[in-house]
Amino acid sequence: MAMYQRALCWVRRDLRLRDHTALAAATRQTREVIVVFVFDTNILRNLEDKDDRRLTFIHHSLQDMQRRLVKKGSSLLVCHGDPVLDIPRLAQDLKVQAVFTNRDYDPYARKRDRIVEQKLKISDVAFHSYMDQVVFEHPDIVTRQGEPYKVFTPYKNAWLAALRPEQLVEEKPNLKRLAQAKVFEKWSDPWSLKALGFEENDLWLKAGEEGARAAWKKFQKHMHRYHRDRDFPSRNHGTSGLSAHLRFGTISIRELVRTALTQKDEGARAWLTELIWRDFYQTILDRFSYVVRGAFRSEYDRIQWPGKPEHFEKWCRGETGYPLVDAAMRHFERTGWMHNRLRMVVASFLVKDLLIDWRWGEAWFARKLLDFDLASNNGGWQWCASTGCDAQPWFRIFNPVTQSKHFDPEGRFLRAHLPELAGFSNTHIHWPHEAPASEQEKAGCRLGRDYPTPIVDHAAQREKALKLFEGVSQTV
Ligand code: FAD
Repeated sequence: MAMYQRALCWVRRDLRLRDHTALAAATRQTREVIVVFVFDTNILRNLEDKDDRRLTFIHHSLQDMQRRLVKKGSSLLVCHGDPVLDIPRLAQDLKVQAVFTNRDYDPYARKRDRIVEQKLKISDVAFHSYMDQVVFEHPDIVTRQGEPYKVFTPYKNAWLAALRPEQLVEEKPNLKRLAQAKVFEKWSDPWSLKALGFEENDLWLKAGEEGARAAWKKFQKHMHRYHRDRDFPSRNHGTSGLSAHLRFGTISIRELVRTALTQKDEGARAWLTELIWRDFYQTILDRFSYVVRGAFRSEYDRIQWPGKPEHFEKWCRGETGYPLVDAAMRHFERTGWMHNRLRMVVASFLVKDLLIDWRWGEAWFARKLLDFDLASNNGGWQWCASTGCDAQPWFRIFNPVTQSKHFDPEGRFLRAHLPELAGFSNTHIHWPHEAPASEQEKAGCRLGRDYPTPIVDHAAQREKALKLFEGVSQTV
């Protein structure tokens, strides 16, 4: 194999040095590799919050990467601009012969990479992209007819059957080949978010490879209990908390799958299934990119959602009068993270109790989630709204009070995030509206004053939701 003299490794949602496919390939095939990250102005300009937590997470992760690179006598090149212009420009300035990168399946990223590749080609610079974010990409897992799977269980079975140890082998970069970037960007302080027009925000977790490794180490001790704990939001380490790390690639999916496979217990099997859902939704987004705009099952785009904008505002603020929904939404606002059970409860409530278009909720999550991932978020919302490929049937509607009793029986999550309800008994905290006046007084919480009265009646809304869906499914 001919060696390149110098190459760029362009990192995007793979902010680590360990087990990194593009970096391993680049350092195998090149004498000098420069690692570059571009704060993409096309993405930044669409962020609505100046203190968007994702930028803090990225910023901290880049700092972590920089520390590791400096130890190896190298450094990270950070730019702020449009990658379609910046990557070809850097390739020229740095006189590289190739650009290496890991594939990203978002429609925007796909288009961006196609343009970058074409531009590089004009100047005779090679563009190499690799699968790294997922274990399988399309068309690795297809039906006998060569079509992508639209139902999860057969996809999962095919995924497990196709898995070979070589797919999970650690992709070790040769860090001796990392070079110091000789060109300095005009942007004087790449380590300050202020220079990008953003502010730091608090993170509830440590970002970067260091944070990922610590979280992963902790979760490995709890993985065997995952199938029992995963649905209870107040249980410590009931789930891994790794979603933001997976989103930004501060840990390798191969490493997680390797470990889950060796543990072989029920907990590990259940957890592996969730990692497979992640691959599944990436394929759905990749092959059916229209889901970004509308329902996977397009007949559901005919639903005329009668919900009220003021109810949407109350849902966002956690003021619906339904304690589990409100606790989840307020915790979400403070942290940018939500437990999977609660994502399902609040999504179902928005769509099937407030009768609001699921895309409004999807957009709110896209704005606020630290682990926002277009494929998983869209898949999750379409599952809850019953419009997706392998979704919750439309006639199954979560009762938010029953969910609360079931998954937070002692009201621990509710008490932690709705302090005004903390004084209610375990019997009434899930639905304080039926607590006797004496209990309200004892709890120091007058309903309607200190905590909102319910904005809708679940039973009545349920009937309306069934009619809405029935109307559409009868015309199919
Ligand atoms: P764990 O339970 O430890 O799972 C391990 C990993 O598996 C997760 O980190 C995640 O990468 C993956 N995973 C778990 N569940 C799912 C799932 N249902 N679909 C796809 N991947 C999954 N996940 C995101 O990563 N980003 C999103 O934007 C996102 N939006 C969602 C929106 C809705 C409405 C719903 C119902 C789910 C959404 N999910 C999303 C899936 C899931 O809620 C989160 O991945 C999970 O809560 C993250 O916590 P964890 O890392 O502790 O998960």
